Amino acid sequence: MRVKRMLSLCLALLFLFCVQTPIQAEPLKHRVFYHGSREEKVIALTFDDGPHPRYTTEILAILEKYQVRATFFVIGKNLELYPTAARALLQSDNEIGNHTYSHPHMQYISTENLMEEINKTEEIIASLGGKPTTLFRPPEGAKSASHLTVVSHLSYKTVLWSIDTKDWAHHSPSSICKTVLKNVKGGDIVLFHDYVNPPSYTITALEYLIPMLLQNGYRFVTVSELLGQCSSSGEESSS
Ligand SMILES: [Zn+2]
Repeated sequence: MRVKRMLSLCLALLFLFCVQTPIQAEPLKHRVFYHGSREEKVIALTFDDGPHPRYTTEILAILEKYQVRATFFVIGKNLELYPTAARALLQSDNEIGNHTYSHPHMQYISTENLMEEINKTEEIIASLGGKPTTLFRPPEGAKSASHLTVVSHLSYKTVLWSIDTKDWAHHSPSSICKTVLKNVKGGDIVLFHDYVNPPSYTITALEYLIPMLLQNGYRFVTVSELLGQCSSSGEESSS
């Protein structure tokens, strides 16, 4: 897998070289996903910006209590800061996605720096015993054609969301629950955060939401499982 990553990196560098020369590069289909197939009552909960020693641990406990799995888009810097919480997360049954090393503003970052951010995080995940990741979520959901091209060349799928709980804006637990329950459909990817500053109401909302969604017949899957059931719906492609 490491060899595969190195190969992908070489291809990406080659691509960047080609872009800077008059040679016209082959159009690349970007793999950006907002949701999965709408055919079944399955949804993917996603948590950004962790791990956090307290809140990620609490989220993992809730997931375990209800025997559901989710996807965590982790920041490399936080993996380094909180290795115990990081190991617990990486060893859990949940899926891990890459959310860069330092959560930079995407409009100010070059394609080379973005590659470094992604690869550095991948190396930290490996050093803590995690599996190679295949999903990438850009900070703030920001995406530009050149960044998407780099991400695709590194063999990642870019994953955004179809429901934003706005937990990052400190919405109340009832508002978070209302947002999800009013809008939820099979195939949804739901955006939460492990931690925001000051702390959000994510945990309180989850305690109500998960049993409610289970009662309504929804199954929880990881993003890769959700997209595995998806041929092209929810995918935005461009060249
Ligand atoms: Zn983020």
